Amino acid sequence: MREGKLRSLLLNISSFLISVILILHLPLTVFGAAITDIRFWSAPDHTRVVLDSTDPVQYESSSQENPPQCQIELIGITTLPKKRELEVKDKYLHKIILTDLGKGKARLTLYQKTPLQTNIFTLKPDLGKPHRLVIDLIDVRQEQREREEREKQKETKQKGTKIVVIDPGHGGEDPGAMGPRKTKEKDIVLKVGKKLIHLLDQQREIKAFLTRKGDYFVPLETRVRMAREYGADLFISLHADGSFNPQARGSSVYCLSLSGASDQAAKLLADKENMSNILGGAFLRPTALSKDPQLNQILLDLMQNNSMKESFRFAELALEGLREVHALKFPNYRQANFIVLRAPDIPSVLVEVAYITNKEDERLLNQSEFQGKLAQTLSNAISKYFR
Ligand SMILES: [Zn+2]
Repeated sequence: MREGKLRSLLLNISSFLISVILILHLPLTVFGAAITDIRFWSAPDHTRVVLDSTDPVQYESSSQENPPQCQIELIGITTLPKKRELEVKDKYLHKIILTDLGKGKARLTLYQKTPLQTNIFTLKPDLGKPHRLVIDLIDVRQEQREREEREKQKETKQKGTKIVVIDPGHGGEDPGAMGPRKTKEKDIVLKVGKKLIHLLDQQREIKAFLTRKGDYFVPLETRVRMAREYGADLFISLHADGSFNPQARGSSVYCLSLSGASDQAAKLLADKENMSNILGGAFLRPTALSKDPQLNQILLDLMQNNSMKESFRFAELALEGLREVHALKFPNYRQANFIVLRAPDIPSVLVEVAYITNKEDERLLNQSEFQGKLAQTLSNAISKYFR
C-alpha cells in the first residue's frame, strides 16, 4: 500500500513537472511569433493599432483610467521589429511603445489621451496579409454623437433638400487596388470624394456627406448603415479598378443585382470589392451580425422597389457624363452583388473611375485636374438626377 501511494505520488509529481515544462516551453518553441510591424489608423471615433506577426500571438490585456492607458502583454515572442516607438498624436493617442520584457515576453503600451473602450481581436493571414493583432480604442460617446448627427440630418431635412452620401472605397488596412507606381485606390477615391463633396456643397438644395473622411477602414455594412441613418436620397461608392491585364482601362458603373451578376467579370469584381471587409479587418459587433428578418424581407422585395430603377437611372446619367471625361470600359452599367449597394431603400451606384493598374490611367488618377473633372462630371449627373 505505502509503496503504491509513493509511486502514485511520484507519478503525480513527474506529470506535474512535465506539464510545467510544457507550459514554459510550448509558447517558445511551438507558438513562437516574430512581431514584424506595428502601425495605427486614426478615425473620427476610434484609433486602430495593428501588430503584424509571423504566427498567432498570445496576449493578455489590461486597462487603467488614470493615466488612461492600455497594456497588452504578448507571450511567446521571438523577435520584435526595429521600430518600437510610434508618435501618434491623433485625437485619442499620444504614443505607442513596444517593450522587450525578455524570456519571450513583450509589452505593448498605448498611451491614451482619454479613457476609451478597448476591442482586441486577431485576424488570420488572408489575401497576402500576415497574422494580425488588432486593437481598437473606441470613443463610444463620439460614435453615438456621430450617429445622432446623421439621424438629425434625416429628421431636420427640409422639403426639396436632397441628401447624397459619397463613399470612398477601402481605407486603412485595405489599400484597394494598386497601380504600377504604387498609387493606392484608397487614396485616389478619397481625393475624388472630397472634391465631389466640395462641389455638391455649393448647390443649395443638396447636402452631401462622406462615409470616410480619412485613411481608416469602415466595414461595408457600416457604410450602408450610415447612408440609411442620413436618410440618403442617393449613395455613390467610389472605386478605381484593378486588373492583371495592364492594358485594361476606362471608367465603369455598377448597380446591385440580387439575381446574379450580369456577367462573370462583374461577379468577380463584386467578389473582389466585397473582400474589403477581410482585408480591412472588419469586426462587426454582435448586434450588427444578428440577422434582421425585416431587413431581409425588404431585400427580397427590392426587385420591385423603386430604388433599383432609380439606381439604373442615375447609372445612365453617370455614364453619359463620364464618357466626356474618360474612355468607358463598358458602354452600359452592369450589375453584381456588391455588399455596399445593398441599402434597400436608397438608390445606390458604384463607380469605378478608371483602372489604377493601367499606366496611363494611373498617371491621370494622380492628377488633381483629372480628379476634379471626375468630381465635376459626377456632380453634374447628380444635379440632373434630382431635376
Ligand atoms: Zn475598390
